[in-house]
Amino acid sequence: MTNNLFDISGKVAIVTGGNGGIGLGIATGLANAGANIVIAARDDDKTSTALKSLSKIPVRSVGLHVDVQDEGSVAKAVESTMKQFGRIDILVNNAGINNRKQPQEFSSTEWNEVMDINLKGAFFCAREVYPHMVKCGGGKIINIGSMTSTFGLDFAAVYAASKGGIVQLAKSQSIAWAKDNIQVNCILPGWIKTELTSRLQFTKPERYSLINERIPAGRWGEPEDFAGIAVFLASPASGYVTGIAIPIDGGYTAF
Ligand code: NDP
Repeated sequence: MTNNLFDISGKVAIVTGGNGGIGLGIATGLANAGANIVIAARDDDKTSTALKSLSKIPVRSVGLHVDVQDEGSVAKAVESTMKQFGRIDILVNNAGINNRKQPQEFSSTEWNEVMDINLKGAFFCAREVYPHMVKCGGGKIINIGSMTSTFGLDFAAVYAASKGGIVQLAKSQSIAWAKDNIQVNCILPGWIKTELTSRLQFTKPERYSLINERIPAGRWGEPEDFAGIAVFLASPASGYVTGIAIPIDGGYTAF
C-alpha cells in the first residue's frame, strides 16, 4: 500500500472521448499521476494527435476506435483493453454531445442521439468494465455531468435530461457496487473552453456575455482544470467517497 494517497501508477484508465477537450485534460492528469491511458473515441485523427501529446508522459497510452452508443463497439474496446493491459481500474465516462434548440423542436432521432451517447453510452461502458474491476478488487468510475445535471437551460433540454440521468445512474451504481469496492462519482463542469462550447459566443452572444459576468473566478474553465479532481476521484484518496457530484465551475453554481 502506497503512502501517496494520490498515487495511481500502474493503473489502467479508459477515458471515453479522451481525444480532446475535457477528456484529454483528464487523460493527461491521470497519466501525469502514473496511470496508463486508453483513449476511446470515434475520430482517429484526433486520437492520434492526442496520443502524440500523451507520449511525452512516461506511461503507456493507446487509442481505440469506439462509438459508445454501440454496445458491441464498447464490448470490443473493453476486451481489447484487457488483452493489451490485463486490467481496468478507472473508467471516465466523458464522451458527450449537445444539440441546442428549444424543447418543442426536437425530433425523436435527435432525442435518441443525445441520450444514446451521453447516457446510454455511460451505462454500457460501466456495465462492461464492472466484472473486470471486480476481478481487480475494486475500481473507480467517473461520469462527466454538467451544471444541467442540477438546473435547466432553455436551449439544452435533452442534454440536461441526459446529464441529470448520468448523475442518478451513478448514485444507483455507487450503492450497488460499494460491496465490490467500486466508487462511482460525477464531475459537473461549468463553462469550459472546448469544441463543444466554442460556437456559443457567435450563436448566442448575449448569453455568452452574461455567462462571463457570472463566473466568480472571472474566467471560463480550461481542460487542465479537470486534472486535479480526476486524480482525486481515481485514487485511493477518494476511497470513502462515492455517489456524489462535484461542480468544477469557478463558483458559477454558488453565485
Ligand atoms: P468535446 O466536443 O471537445 O469532447 C467530446 C468528446 O466526446 C469528443 O472528444 C468526441 O470524440 C467524444 N464523443 C462524442 N460522441 C462519441 C461517441 N459516440 N463515442 C465515443 N466518443 C464520442 O467537448 P467537451 O470536452 O466540452 O465535453 C466533454 C464532456 O464534458 C461531455 O460529456 C460534455 O457534455 C461535458 N461538459 C462540457 C462542458 C463545457 O463547457 N465544455 C460543460 C459541461 C459538461 P469523437 O468525436 O472522436 O468521437
